[in-house]
Amino acid sequence: MVTLIVGCGVFGLSTALELVREGHFVHIIDKYEPPSPWSAANDFNKIVRCEYNDPIHLKLAIEALYAWRSDPIYQKSFSECGRILVTPLSHQNRIKFEMQGVEMLKSVGEGGKYEIFKGGDLLGKKFPFLKDNSVASNQEVKYNPESGLGVSMQTLKDVYNYLKNHPNVICTFGDSGDVIGIKKYSDGSSGVITKSGYVHSASNILICAGANTGSILTLENQQSATGLYVTHIQLSNNEYNYYKDIPIIYDAELGYFFPPDSKTKIMKVCLSGVRVKRTVTDPFDKNQDVSLPRFHNNYPKDTIPKDSISTLRELLKKYVPELADHKFIGSKICWIGDREGSNFLIDQVPGYNNCYIATGDSGHAFKFFPIIGRYIIQRVQGKLDEELASIWKWKSKTNTEMFDGSNASWRVTKSGTLDITKVDFLIENEISKL
Ligand SMILES: Cc1cc2nc3c(=O)[nH]c(=O)nc-3n(C[C@H](O)[C@H](O)[C@H](O)COP(=O)(O)OP(=O)(O)OC[C@H]3O[C@@H](n4cnc5c(N)ncnc54)[C@H](O)[C@@H]3O)c2cc1C
Repeated sequence: MVTLIVGCGVFGLSTALELVREGHFVHIIDKYEPPSPWSAANDFNKIVRCEYNDPIHLKLAIEALYAWRSDPIYQKSFSECGRILVTPLSHQNRIKFEMQGVEMLKSVGEGGKYEIFKGGDLLGKKFPFLKDNSVASNQEVKYNPESGLGVSMQTLKDVYNYLKNHPNVICTFGDSGDVIGIKKYSDGSSGVITKSGYVHSASNILICAGANTGSILTLENQQSATGLYVTHIQLSNNEYNYYKDIPIIYDAELGYFFPPDSKTKIMKVCLSGVRVKRTVTDPFDKNQDVSLPRFHNNYPKDTIPKDSISTLRELLKKYVPELADHKFIGSKICWIGDREGSNFLIDQVPGYNNCYIATGDSGHAFKFFPIIGRYIIQRVQGKLDEELASIWKWKSKTNTEMFDGSNASWRVTKSGTLDITKVDFLIENEISKL
């Protein structure tokens, strides 16, 4: 029995690794060999945190954190660098959301090292590399030393390297791995049609194509591709040595940045409240609009909005003023698959006997990389816990207004989600290879 997995990002590779560890056979296919430029995780780093305000995700996040710390494949790309959270007092919904997360964490005996204090002076005393910050004296600051980061492109590589050398694994990339649709056979089973014309079949098929899943089959308005903006600055050797041990700094209003990458000395900087969509007609339902991604490797001019530069500079100036004037490089849109309630979509595809789907990452799935495959397999085997099966269930929403993931009350957004055709992008002189 072979499982065919379409998409070698977080959900696909996690499931493949778990299946192989259980002794099964897998065929993994993707347009690109991992790390794919289309994967939302093909990036320097992602936050691994456990603060969730619902018990289901809280439990999963704690399970994932322990796996990051202990699993020999995943622990290599994990760093428990801590995270500082600053949310302006004007964003009460977000503050409430964050406090619920902290309280939930404590209620299950975790988060014992959590610190909450006030003001930029104390922040600078605790973290000398932030001594020049201009955080207000009445600003609440949260610090969790037990948060961390995954060096995400490295995690994709580490899991893939293990799989590609394993005798139970077949890999197909390029046009024969680029899936454009699903073929239904007369017995109700399915195969996947690729750009090369080749149709792959297997005992079970699992589609894990992230934000791009809607270009393979209709998701019946359950998922919307949302673009998030990422940019970088290059640190000098001295700057790297000074800032290499900073925690992740997350300012809910302005954006967030990470400790610099140890190989390149590049620091990743992200906008937190600005999102983009790309509205098109659903390729499989002409009555429904849907947002589908336009990937940076195909559209290198999709960088960051010109009018966001001042926000990014403000962010750096507030915490690390010495770095505020650095040139932004390698700016790009990174696409996630948003779903209502930020719940994943992990279920059987209606109408097919052997076709399953795992998508709807909603921008928070990377942290679950070491464990999510286990749950996806449980769904395929019909053994998934009822509560999880219910929140991850296929729930058709056709012929309604296009779903927009930016409406959650705790999100600090500057405006609604702008369509990509309306964005005035920064022109970068050098198109970075990042
Ligand atoms: C800017 C940004 C910041 C984020 N920060 C965090 C964070 O701090 N913490 C966190 O937990 N998560 C974070 N995420 C979210 C995380 O990266 C995603 O949740 C995760 O990568 C989703 O996994 P996936 O497997 O669903 O999709 P992806 O990782 O995107 O993988 C999809 C795969 O499918 C392949 N594919 C697509 N179309 C096709 C096709 N037609 N045929 C074949 N293959 C195809 C792609 O090449 C890719 O390899 C962030 C995402 C972004 C964009």
